[in-house]
Amino acid sequence: MKTLQVDLGQRSYPIYIGSRLLEQADLLTRHIRSKQVLIVTNETVAPLYLQQVLDNLSDFVVETVILPDGEQYKTLDYLNRIFDTLLTHKFSRNASLIALGGGVIGDMGGFAAACYQRGIPFIQIPTTLLAQVDSSVGGKTGVNHPLGKNMIGAFYQPQCVIADMSVLSTLDDRQLSAGIAEVIKYGLIREPDFFAWLEDNLESLLDRDVEALAHAVERSCRNKAEVVAADEKEADVRATLNLGHTFGHAIETGMGYGSYLHGEAVAIGTCQAADLSRRKGWLTDADVERIIRLFKRARLPVEPPAALDANRFIELMAVDKKNVDGNIRLILLKSIGEATLPVGVEKALLVATLNGYGR
Ligand code: NAD
Ligand code: MG
Repeated sequence: MKTLQVDLGQRSYPIYIGSRLLEQADLLTRHIRSKQVLIVTNETVAPLYLQQVLDNLSDFVVETVILPDGEQYKTLDYLNRIFDTLLTHKFSRNASLIALGGGVIGDMGGFAAACYQRGIPFIQIPTTLLAQVDSSVGGKTGVNHPLGKNMIGAFYQPQCVIADMSVLSTLDDRQLSAGIAEVIKYGLIREPDFFAWLEDNLESLLDRDVEALAHAVERSCRNKAEVVAADEKEADVRATLNLGHTFGHAIETGMGYGSYLHGEAVAIGTCQAADLSRRKGWLTDADVERIIRLFKRARLPVEPPAALDANRFIELMAVDKKNVDGNIRLILLKSIGEATLPVGVEKALLVATLNGYGR
């Protein structure tokens, strides 16, 4: 097992990475301060892993909330079910909340923990690759509002993150690839050697070799932890984690949520960002080809949907948190392994990418 530390002063916490970690009761219980524990999970994950977690908590008074599975339930209404259970069972301020599931459960569990009695300790047990490398680390929690995704939330750091590679065996292939898209992102924005490692080891990841997965999760989490430690509230460098996301969000929204997984949209968006970086004169043709090839090998889409033309893309990209005074700003690449901070782009260049790349 590897342990990484997220350095945030008094709010620092460890990330445990390894296989069969759910069998190690002590990893979990050392972070629990009272008898009362609430586990938040969903209908898909509960039959697979809830009992294993419960087995570790025989000395505790444990309640469980099992939410329906899906992004459409990441709402204030379903969040309230967590508060209902906490209050019904008279949970106190030092009770612990465990989020057992993918990013949806992690974001909701974390936000519930941030709000209940103004904050109770919580533990992340991420069960998708995406949640292990991205959403469980960094303290962004929240729910969706009908008028915007992740619009209601809080920064709230967990007590620890337990990333068990063994749980990834039940994840479907499409979800695994979607997680790999965010893994590739870390190599692209700040670690060229990691990008090269991924080129050499992609098949092992797709085969779910637990050592390869643990290595990829560790390097991804280390990168995310360093970025978050430098800029917890996204004043500057944390924005680089959004490489490919402005194009990607446009694809997710424009095509209707659910038709593309987030990681799939990010893969396409990153290829578009790479194409634009080439037009800026920063990446070479060969760099762009390397990037596209790796996403393709990871069984991810790399071309924008035909249904979205340049005008529609620009319309959708205009509603992004990074924009200033209505001007679209993007994370681009200076090279493989070095991202820019958000930069304004000439409209003509953006249009050239939107009409030229993958069309
Ligand atoms: P998800 O939570 O919907 O999980 C994907 C699917 O996999 C679900 O059907 C889930 O039930 C299933 N699943 C989970 N673990 C499984 C397992 N071990 N075996 C089999 N099936 C399993 O989606 P996700 O991709 O994990 O996360 C996406 C969410 O994360 C979005 O809501 C997004 O906004 C959020 N997110 C948050 C951050 C952050 O910083 N907080 C970062 C990235 C994404
Ligand atoms: Mg993302």
